Amino acid sequence: MAMKDVQPGTRNEEGIAAVLGILKQTFGERFQTGQSFREQHTHTTTYLPAQLPDGVVFVESADDVKTVVKTCAAHKVPMIPFGTGSSLEGHLNAPSGGISVDFSRMNRVIEVNAEDLDCTVEPGVTREELNTYLRDTGLFFPIDPGANASIGGMTATRASGTNAVRYGTMKDNVLSLTVVTADGDEIRTAQRAKKSSAGYDLTRLYVGSEGTLGIITSVTLKLQGIPAKIGGGVCAFPSLKAACDAVIMTIQMGIPVARIELLDEMQMKACNAYSKLSYAEKPTLFLEFHGTEETVALQSEQFSEIAAECGADEYRYTANAEERAQLWKARHNAYWAGRALAPELNGLSTDVCVPISRLADCVAETQADIRETGLLAPIVGHAGDGNFHVLMLFDDKQPEDLARAEAFMARLNGRALAMGGTCTGEHGVGQGKMSYLEQELHSALPVMRAIKKSLDPDNIFNPGKIFRL
Ligand SMILES: Cc1cc2nc3c(=O)[nH]c(=O)nc-3n(C[C@H](O)[C@H](O)[C@H](O)COP(=O)(O)OP(=O)(O)OC[C@H]3O[C@@H](n4cnc5c(N)ncnc54)[C@H](O)[C@@H]3O)c2cc1C
Repeated sequence: MAMKDVQPGTRNEEGIAAVLGILKQTFGERFQTGQSFREQHTHTTTYLPAQLPDGVVFVESADDVKTVVKTCAAHKVPMIPFGTGSSLEGHLNAPSGGISVDFSRMNRVIEVNAEDLDCTVEPGVTREELNTYLRDTGLFFPIDPGANASIGGMTATRASGTNAVRYGTMKDNVLSLTVVTADGDEIRTAQRAKKSSAGYDLTRLYVGSEGTLGIITSVTLKLQGIPAKIGGGVCAFPSLKAACDAVIMTIQMGIPVARIELLDEMQMKACNAYSKLSYAEKPTLFLEFHGTEETVALQSEQFSEIAAECGADEYRYTANAEERAQLWKARHNAYWAGRALAPELNGLSTDVCVPISRLADCVAETQADIRETGLLAPIVGHAGDGNFHVLMLFDDKQPEDLARAEAFMARLNGRALAMGGTCTGEHGVGQGKMSYLEQELHSALPVMRAIKKSLDPDNIFNPGKIFRL
């Protein structure tokens, strides 16, 4: 279970003391050991208890990162890279202590190659900062997790968001990386070309490695042209199954929706209250279509036929930019809206992902399980990818409440795996999903461990995450 994976590791006290002294001398005010800094760097949106680092260094360049890595490597002291701290599975905990490497000051856009539709950024740039920077170029970066996460953190967790059904996840949108390895050298994993068969695909090895194999110092990303026409839609259904069936048919018919998001009745109630909206409190799909005037109209028409076939109550299309912005703001705030249903409780957002044909079964069985268990748990998800979140609200101070939530999570993950799915479509493993990764990819774990031991023989990069060594 998740909680039992939050164990203290062995601390190298002598090494830590030496590193604290050296980093203070090297970085001055840019190195902090105060309690509040250490707490801020593990205080994330998770119910897992915090395990504080011993110090926080604010890096400003790849050379700074090399200095930190060389210092920590010489004394075998752990480093935990920190983006914006929005990860959900205890990714930033420091079970063996060590140094949190904060990227908020490494936040420059290095170059934009508009004619090649790519750009290179430092890891601390957030997704919203990047899109603001790109505004006048006619280009945008489509990956949009609910939080305003850093590009480094998104790369390290292989993140995605509402646009992934059309534009893919971070694995599809990172062209190349620079990474500082365990010996303190910086490597480049690829050139900027859209395709390459040049050797092992190290880019994709580091994408999703959660800071356990090296520290990313720059990210080269694919960009997209802002579509000539964007249309949005909201469609309410009499049941969650009917909404899921509409998603499945939309994807199976190859309608190139840019976004198709599922919200159950409880999540709609939460969004109405939190974002001051007045949608029907029924299972609902939020949609977006990208293209030209004609293709957007065609996609919306095709969807409305599917929706009618699935018994939709009402489908509302809008091309009004303000209305669309309001809709997607509400969707991005869905987590906080869900939490506001019971502010006194803690929250845990699951993120199973199943093959699209199993979406309706998985969601229906999960909703029945929620009812039987009596959990307060809205459902919201990137349904076009077969990925959905259950936000479990529970009292983490009450052992029986916690046990109930963890038992539900175990059943949910087991259900998704039995359907050919995964325990994590986008959040990553961190500490919280280690047991589930073991169930999911048991036969592959020795290879993952061999890679980890080869690239990080002293286990100094974010130890105690993804799997046990
Ligand atoms: C409200 C809310 C909604 C969310 N919605 C989504 C969603 O829709 N889709 C989704 O995918 N996720 C979602 N998340 C989870 C989270 O936003 C993502 O996991 C995000 O990618 C984390 O980015 P970050 O900058 O906050 O990284 P952090 O939390 O700071 O770090 C995450 C991991 O990346 C590593 N890391 C950070 N920087 C580097 C670096 N430079 N080099 C190497 N490793 C590094 C860290 O060590 C850690 O293991 C959501 C979270 C919240 C709170």
